[in-house]
Amino acid sequence: MYQTTNTRIIVPEFDVRQPTSLEAVLRELEHNAKGTRLLAGGTDLLVQIKLERTQPARLIDITRVPELMGMAVKDGMLIVGAATSIRTLANGVGVRERYTALAESCDAFSTVPVMIMGTIGGNLCNASPAADTAPALFAFDGAVELASCEGSRRTVPLDEFFVGPGRTVMREDEVMVAVRLPKTAAGTGSAFVKIGRVAADISKVSAAVKLVRKDDRVSECRIAVGAVAATPMRAYTAEQYLAGRRIDAKTLADAARAVEEDVKPITDVRSTKEYRTHVAGVAVKDALGAAWQRARGGERQ
Ligand SMILES: Cc1cc2nc3c(=O)[nH]c(=O)nc-3n(C[C@H](O)[C@H](O)[C@H](O)COP(=O)(O)OP(=O)(O)OC[C@H]3O[C@@H](n4cnc5c(N)ncnc54)[C@H](O)[C@@H]3O)c2cc1C
Repeated sequence: MYQTTNTRIIVPEFDVRQPTSLEAVLRELEHNAKGTRLLAGGTDLLVQIKLERTQPARLIDITRVPELMGMAVKDGMLIVGAATSIRTLANGVGVRERYTALAESCDAFSTVPVMIMGTIGGNLCNASPAADTAPALFAFDGAVELASCEGSRRTVPLDEFFVGPGRTVMREDEVMVAVRLPKTAAGTGSAFVKIGRVAADISKVSAAVKLVRKDDRVSECRIAVGAVAATPMRAYTAEQYLAGRRIDAKTLADAARAVEEDVKPITDVRSTKEYRTHVAGVAVKDALGAAWQRARGGERQ
């Protein structure tokens, strides 16, 4: 019996379809539902196929579908096509200024080739607890738009999307079409912090913060952490604690402690649960400090 590793270059045969419209993607999915998988950048799926964790008979390449690509602002809301690459998203007009934590989560993503191939939809649908864009999208109250073969559409808030490692609320007949981010308010500051073993690795712990600073107090706050529970998660206790307070050494320490109490990490090849618990608090503290500074005077708006 051999051990499967990521160095194997032989993969099972599969059929590839390359539709050029969302309608055609949904048609393909409907006709071939069993044994069919959607393929975006392939940076997760092809690895899983090589490791023989999945053996799809057919792949539907969604990277030639205009409806799934690119970014637009509609009524102040940023809409990002699900097949938009991490690199394109990071460099999108206004993204770094208005959604700083999201741009930073893209910057922290592995290496340039992975950023160019990997997509935002793939990062979310793969549903890793360590998906780097997820905490930042939580922080901005992101939602995903899903289209189904039978013609229905639904929008799911991101904090209801993940169910467990590798599992989401998406059905097999659905395609993620876009990620939607509400307009940010004046006085918003945000930051993303990633702790990895080496620069180009998956997160051991990640944290994203978005806050609105008004009259030198936190008027609104979102805190999310990654790789410290079965899914990326909001740190609600710390969020509630900070509402209406000033950011200083004491409130930062209290918020960090609240985060440490809320997370439920595991020990695995990358880290221990004790390390992850402690560093989740530290990462949130750092992200809060940076977001607070950036929110001063709303200079990044
Ligand atoms: C070397 C390496 C380094 C990595 N580093 C990082 C890192 O630093 N941070 C990080 O978060 N991730 C990292 N990853 C993981 C991966 O690159 C990301 O999760 C990436 O965003 C996946 O996107 P993709 O387009 O390649 O997804 P794919 O592999 O094409 O798809 C992933 C899953 O999502 C499904 N899917 C894709 N798009 C859709 C859609 N529109 N609708 C429905 N289902 C869809 C696919 O069917 C598949 O199940 C790394 C991977 C590698 C190989």
